Amino acid sequence: MKTDIQIAQETKMELIKNVAARLDIQEDDLEFYGKYKAKFSDELWEKIKDRPDGKLVLVTAVNPTPAGEGKTTISVGLGEAMGVLNKKAVLALREPSLGPCFGIKGGAAGGGYAQLIPMEELNLHFTGDFHAITSANNLLAAMLDNHIHQGNALRIDTNQIVWKRCLDMNDRALRNIVVGLGAKADGVVREDHFVISVASEIMAILCLANDLNDLKEMLGRIIVAYNYDGEPVTAKDLKAVGSMAALLKDAIKPNMIQTLEHTPAIVHGGPFANIAHGCNSVRATKMALKMADIVITEAGFGADLGAEKFFDIKCRKAGLTPSAVVLVSTVKAMKYNGGVAKKDLPEKNMEALKKGIVNLEKHIENLQKYGVPIVVTLNKYVTDSEEELTYIKDFCESRGCEFALAEVWEHGGQGGVELANKVLNILENKESNFKVLYPDEYTLKQKIETISKEIYGADGVTYSAAAEKALARIEAMGMGNLPVCMAKNQYSLSDDPKKLGRPTGFTVNIREVYVSAGAGFVVAITGTIMTMPGLPKVPAAEAIDVDDDGNIVGLF
Ligand code: ADP
Ligand code: MG
Repeated sequence: MKTDIQIAQETKMELIKNVAARLDIQEDDLEFYGKYKAKFSDELWEKIKDRPDGKLVLVTAVNPTPAGEGKTTISVGLGEAMGVLNKKAVLALREPSLGPCFGIKGGAAGGGYAQLIPMEELNLHFTGDFHAITSANNLLAAMLDNHIHQGNALRIDTNQIVWKRCLDMNDRALRNIVVGLGAKADGVVREDHFVISVASEIMAILCLANDLNDLKEMLGRIIVAYNYDGEPVTAKDLKAVGSMAALLKDAIKPNMIQTLEHTPAIVHGGPFANIAHGCNSVRATKMALKMADIVITEAGFGADLGAEKFFDIKCRKAGLTPSAVVLVSTVKAMKYNGGVAKKDLPEKNMEALKKGIVNLEKHIENLQKYGVPIVVTLNKYVTDSEEELTYIKDFCESRGCEFALAEVWEHGGQGGVELANKVLNILENKESNFKVLYPDEYTLKQKIETISKEIYGADGVTYSAAAEKALARIEAMGMGNLPVCMAKNQYSLSDDPKKLGRPTGFTVNIREVYVSAGAGFVVAITGTIMTMPGLPKVPAAEAIDVDDDGNIVGLF
């Protein structure tokens, strides 16, 4: 069997100007990064903004398992299938982080015959957006430490600095560090921390900003620290907004590449789906809606995190109305939720499947609360048995849910025609009555409790003393109207990653709360959440290389 990177490298790419031309975008409105990648010019929005909007389709999934569910693979395959059916569709997806590329995942451009290309370039550096974000983040950190060193006119309490440095790398040694060691001229000594760049608030801001002005407003509101009176000190107070915006001026322009079957794909931004909202940029999504009849987008992790935040944060803030949801499941994921160990997943096991399918059931019920029509799709693995596939199909259809088998990994767009037809049928015949889960006016606690009970299935919520204090402070600062961004493990619907299936009889414990005032949400942390991942014992990096002809190998 061919690896993902072999399939990707064997495909002859179309010039990106020709891909864009199919969406009525002229060469003049593209800024080329080589022949196969381009950014959209700032003028393009003005030219297309009065076109009618296409329809927005969200791809989400059941809870992730170590076997991989394939949201990106299905998104890309669905886009390719729309092409097979001669529909004008465009993908609006996230850019991969280097961290997972060198860690466990080995790349995030889809898989098999449903991939984005140039795959190596997308996975490594791409058009430099993440470098720009990293630089802007670290400029703010440098200006903060310099301000303190130069006399600290803002009276920043060094014990209450909340801004962290960042790097696009899985590097656990940087989680907790000490800066400012050395002589007096080397700065003020304090404990500091690194997060991975996709966890930077700047990434979330870039993805939620409508335009450069909006971006500046949001950057200005970032809280970097509190002063000795407990009042927030912002990036605007440090006079860092203009220079950060200068670093980000190209990074906020969406990027276009293509799929293996030359479907246009807008790939832009990539915020973490735990402490941030896990969706591609609002700008990219809005532009995509002006360019095509159907826009396919993906939210990170399972639907309890990714879809919830897509609806309650991104759609709420950007005024987007999704028309359909594709809920990805796999036979393996259901068996895993039914208690089967990873190594035994390829074997047929009806008992475990029947036990684990409650996870899918809960996600169907959750998505129905948002009023958007759903198609459940099974991402088919070659090891799946006919009996297992039929069981899931019947399960979905008996719950009034559309169902489609997707074989895009094996067959590309052709393998996604059944799914594409189901989606098209919804877009043409079913109405979306999209509504967010909770109103802005709820208190922060009401919001946290609504998500915990309605989406996770919890009996209630408990708060640490620190979380109680932070919630009161944020409400007092006048930010209680912001949506809540829940930071929870992705494996379980509960806050305990070991509780698989459809857990009941649990409470969610909120350990820590803080406000991302720039991005415009309040982060509520349950359990321990990693903002700087580490590498595994055998990192994917050990197998990555570049051959004598300059071809990259070992990404998968
Ligand atoms: P997600 O977006 O949900 O994280 P991806 O689409 O990135 O998942 O897929 C995760 C991994 O699983 C990729 O390496 C991909 O090649 C692999 N994969 C996805 N679908 C299949 C399939 N049907 N058969 C085999 N491997 C698959
Ligand atoms: Mg993905």
